[in-house]
Amino acid sequence: QTIGASFESTVAAHGDNEALVEFATGRRWTYAELDRDVDALGRGLMGAGVEKGDRVGVWAPNCAEWTIAQFATAKIGAVLVNVNPSYRTHEFSYALQQSGMKLLISAESFKASDYRAMIQEVTAAQGAEHQLERVVHIGTPDWDALLAEGEGLPDDAVAQRMATLAPSDPINIQYTSGTTGYPKGATLSHTNILNNGFFVTELINFTHEDRLCIPVPFYHCFGMVMGNLGCTTHGATMVIPAPGFDPETTLRCVEAERCTGLYGVPTMFIAMQNHPTFAEHDLSSLRTGCMAGSICPVEVMKRCIEDMHMEQVSIAYGMTETSPVSAQTRDDDDLERRTSTIGRVHPHVELRVVDPATGETVERGTPGELCTRGYSVMLGYWEDEEKTREAVDADGWMHTGDLAEMREDGYLNIVGRIKDMVIRGGENIYPREIEEFLYTHPDVQDVQVIGVPDERYGEELCAWIKLRDGAQPLDTEGVRAFATGKLAHYKIPRYVMLVEEFPMTVTGKIRKVQMREETTEKLG
Ligand code: ATP
Ligand code: MG
Repeated sequence: QTIGASFESTVAAHGDNEALVEFATGRRWTYAELDRDVDALGRGLMGAGVEKGDRVGVWAPNCAEWTIAQFATAKIGAVLVNVNPSYRTHEFSYALQQSGMKLLISAESFKASDYRAMIQEVTAAQGAEHQLERVVHIGTPDWDALLAEGEGLPDDAVAQRMATLAPSDPINIQYTSGTTGYPKGATLSHTNILNNGFFVTELINFTHEDRLCIPVPFYHCFGMVMGNLGCTTHGATMVIPAPGFDPETTLRCVEAERCTGLYGVPTMFIAMQNHPTFAEHDLSSLRTGCMAGSICPVEVMKRCIEDMHMEQVSIAYGMTETSPVSAQTRDDDDLERRTSTIGRVHPHVELRVVDPATGETVERGTPGELCTRGYSVMLGYWEDEEKTREAVDADGWMHTGDLAEMREDGYLNIVGRIKDMVIRGGENIYPREIEEFLYTHPDVQDVQVIGVPDERYGEELCAWIKLRDGAQPLDTEGVRAFATGKLAHYKIPRYVMLVEEFPMTVTGKIRKVQMREETTEKLG
């Protein structure tokens, strides 16, 4: 099935059901209304000359028009290019040229980002190097002008285009988060993302009665696949709390909209659970949700279950290149498995853990590189065969760059990223283990552990700690006293830095690369 065909079957079955809510503005759509707006935009794009396979970018924070553009491009077979709303001219310039974007739908501005000015600057600088023919700013007369382009087309223009599409066609270029380096453009098909979105919410028992609060960005697979496609494949309601993430607004949105599900990366849940107004919100409508994107601390998961009514909350593991999810916990897993593992392999996907040096499958219980194979593996990196070959081997296995351990019971543990592993005096240290341990300190709100260069040991450990409000300052001695006797001596951080924030990507991931640079500089 194509995304458009799946969307239309939901419209046929649940036309009167609420499809989309913008909490910040109060705008609402039923599935039938959303379908009308999707078709109108699809016709407009066709009228503006967008052919099957042409790239159409969206550069905006979360808003209803983002979702409308997602389904309109899917129906007419245009390849949607997700542009990260926090990009600046340098990154936008790269995405514009690399994807060969023909048309761009963009917000005018958001917070400190003046998209209109940046687009002008970049297109002027690129001159004839870019293929951008038209920019449509959301919330301006541009939008209506684009819709008007579709007026002369036959009534069934969109349906006719849809009939020419195949599920294996590329439909989306998603740039990775750029946590470990330059973002890479993963090319994904209808089959890739439609099925993955379906399975993610299937595993948390979604029906058309569910209402999902989506504070994670649409530009990322967490928002547009696990969120939007997860909802539309089940006739559920997509609720957008605000254009950007704000913990209090998200909590208010869940309460006011009686959301049954909530998504977030760990840092978002930490921010909500520690917000001064947390206890004042009635979250009793919640039942489930997903935490994903980076390592999910056990304590944070437990609070979702105990303090946020998310009894069936699930941990999902994935990456942009695999549409994204390839392992997830189920609601019938016991508490230990549901809070401390990433669950079992996803339906119709294979997973294996290999020795990065030899490529051989390792024994259960031994950490190695996690590899994924199946329908969900991307078509490739957009116009980058060399990078694709490095990532996906000849047998179709996507090498994730993550270290994982397959337990005896088939459940998986993520140990960390290969790039984040610390080697101190020949000992492999997985920062996650130390982070989980330091979370148990009563004064610690959030903690990240990295390796920094050291002449004697090669690398030494450094912990960046965010303290709870009103806590006494914690220093290296304090951490040592807390850890001694509980952690092996070489795992006790040599350096402790107290911080207010961690450097983050807009998807809410910690940029350890930047932390390492800053720490190394500070330590001289
Ligand atoms: P880049 O590839 O550009 O450096 P990125 O890998 O962060 O950035 P994404 O595709 O958004 O880009 O994220 C995928 C990565 O997120 C995974 O490879 C993994 O490291 C991490 N991740 C996702 N879910 C989980 C999870 N549940 N537990 C631990 N890590 C996770
Ligand atoms: Mg990655």
